[in-house]
Amino acid sequence: MPENERAPRAVDTHCAYCALQCGTRLTHDPAGRVSAQPLPDFPVNLGGLCQKGWTAPALLTVPDRLRAPLVRGPGGTLAPATWDDALDLVAARLTRLRAEHGPDSVAVFGGGGLTNEKAYALGKFARVALGTSQIDYNGRFCMSSAAAAGNAAFGLDRGLPFPVSDLGAADVVLLAGANPAETMPPIMRHLTAPRLIVVDPRRTRTAAQAALHLQPVPGTDLALALGLLHLAVTEGHLDRAYLDARTTGFEAAWQRAAAWWPERVEGVTGVPAADQRAAVRMLAEADRAYVLTGRGAEQHSKGTDTVSAFVNLSLALGLPGRPGNGYGCLTGQGNGQGGREHGQKADQLPGYRMIDDPAARAHVAGVWGVDPASLPGPGRAAYQLLDALGTEGGPRALLVLGSNPVVSAPRAAHVARRLAALDLLVVADFVPSETTELADVVLPVAQWAEEEGTMTSLEGRVLRRRPVLAPPRGVRTDLQVLNGLAVRLGQPAERFPTEPRAVFDELRRASSGGRADYAGISWERLDAGEALYWPCPEVPGGGHPGTPRMFLDRFAHADGLARFRAVDHREAAEAPGAGRPLYATTGRVPAQYQSGAQTRRVPELLAAAPETHVEVHPDTAARHGLREGGLARVTSARGSTVARVRLVPGLRADTVFLPFHFPGEGRANLLTGDALDPVSGMPEFKLSAVSIEPLRER
Ligand code: SF4
Repeated sequence: MPENERAPRAVDTHCAYCALQCGTRLTHDPAGRVSAQPLPDFPVNLGGLCQKGWTAPALLTVPDRLRAPLVRGPGGTLAPATWDDALDLVAARLTRLRAEHGPDSVAVFGGGGLTNEKAYALGKFARVALGTSQIDYNGRFCMSSAAAAGNAAFGLDRGLPFPVSDLGAADVVLLAGANPAETMPPIMRHLTAPRLIVVDPRRTRTAAQAALHLQPVPGTDLALALGLLHLAVTEGHLDRAYLDARTTGFEAAWQRAAAWWPERVEGVTGVPAADQRAAVRMLAEADRAYVLTGRGAEQHSKGTDTVSAFVNLSLALGLPGRPGNGYGCLTGQGNGQGGREHGQKADQLPGYRMIDDPAARAHVAGVWGVDPASLPGPGRAAYQLLDALGTEGGPRALLVLGSNPVVSAPRAAHVARRLAALDLLVVADFVPSETTELADVVLPVAQWAEEEGTMTSLEGRVLRRRPVLAPPRGVRTDLQVLNGLAVRLGQPAERFPTEPRAVFDELRRASSGGRADYAGISWERLDAGEALYWPCPEVPGGGHPGTPRMFLDRFAHADGLARFRAVDHREAAEAPGAGRPLYATTGRVPAQYQSGAQTRRVPELLAAAPETHVEVHPDTAARHGLREGGLARVTSARGSTVARVRLVPGLRADTVFLPFHFPGEGRANLLTGDALDPVSGMPEFKLSAVSIEPLRER
């Protein structure tokens, strides 16, 4: 059958990229050209797309698309191979490693962009076909702090426990460490609150729209949140009735916050006491108020505590679980929500079940048709997993799906060395990446608009992704890859279905009764246009409506109460000082996404953001001899990166900013370190102590 012959002329689906999962209609003309239009009635994007969404169809025709498996030959170069040869080779080497060194000698690294079906199948493949505990995913670098804090407070983690559209009726929204005007612009159609409060060391486009911009010293958001709680209490805004009826643990949290009076907070964070007071007053006096966190608050070695401090503030004001109010987290990756629910995490089984819970093991093993005792226990969190690769006692082989850790992992040069030390690196992707360059075997897989699947957006709504084109010849789906490997590893083929719908139905059974319950969500219901948010359990007669708004009557802890967490400020893992006088923080630019492996291949996006840059305050530039457009070398204790200088008056003078989407010597993650949050395993992406110097043009 000729390529694309089966494809429909137009399909309604969702964007290739971020967690907003904007509704989009893909149309292809008779010549096979595909274009995207926003779905006008999808309530999240309301007829809007960002530049990435408009141009996403270009991904379908990238010139260097991977179309055949590649195997590294004796000469060290990657050469085309047949699927049978590639899969036979991978399976044989995995089998030998497992026999010689045990199942944990083989590891798996997944991604927050994988569909629910792939995320689920990957977790099952690791635990059943490989028998390894060594699985984690790049969502650990994205969502883990908010997930840990959400679980601790509410007993359940769903990014936004309410629909995005609820934000449109807010009077006040506090955004801590989020810049949605640039990272997910269509959401700004809902962030129309008369008073927006933004916490960010940078004066971003979002901050520029705010009624109040709090610009703390990097790494001090936790102190700021403690100070806001302090003011909520001392200025009489505590919602006592809510506290008594719906929460527990306030006194212990208050004991910590009591020591964070406004002037002390100002001394640590640089945020004027008057602005702190204004922020609390705005939140407390609003009828409808939300506190939202993003990566700026979360990607720290104290990210979980920082999020908990903002959650504590929202609880003190009585927001979570009250209609028209709440706390939420703006998840980043396309399936950042679903990707963390179905078993890719080192410590979890599908349905948010904990892998060390005997009842959870028994349930999931029953669905998988295996002995619960055969399932491994918890493995290493993402950075620890990458750091252990090729070391004594660490994994000797790694299978990567949907991730490019050579660019996106912290301490990137070290991670690349660990990948290079493996006996076997297998990477499945649809385009070459900086990680496929190191691979022993590259497996070309279908992408976004070439296959069926489901995604779960940042508001917990399950969405159908639909293909507009068939995959190119020579390409297989990730599910076919996992099936092919599983069979070669001795598994029955039917245990690893290749049809996404069959995998989704199995996922529903595996999640049934779990905290993220999908049992009542069917493809038929999704295709009929129902807006289904989990939890959506199976009920007699079917038709559970799903749960757009959570926690209205009770939180998910056994006693129904939300928990304050007693947290306190602590220093970051490193601080600027002699020799490295500046903070470096990292983030995104509007035209690129994640490691840039996809968006750098889209001509319009590359033209809009062709290379990395470093944002520097003009005073800082003058002190360091930097000029607009000149090259600079930025150096941390880990290494150096080279970037073009952009003078930005709205940045703190003690801080520089670098986007993390770019490869080679422009990688921002050459600077970032391996300090991890002790609860979530989140690395400290948002803070490195650096020096900066001009570099002559080369
Ligand atoms: Fe796609 Fe996100 Fe842009 Fe929407 S905001 S079009 S989901 S990248």
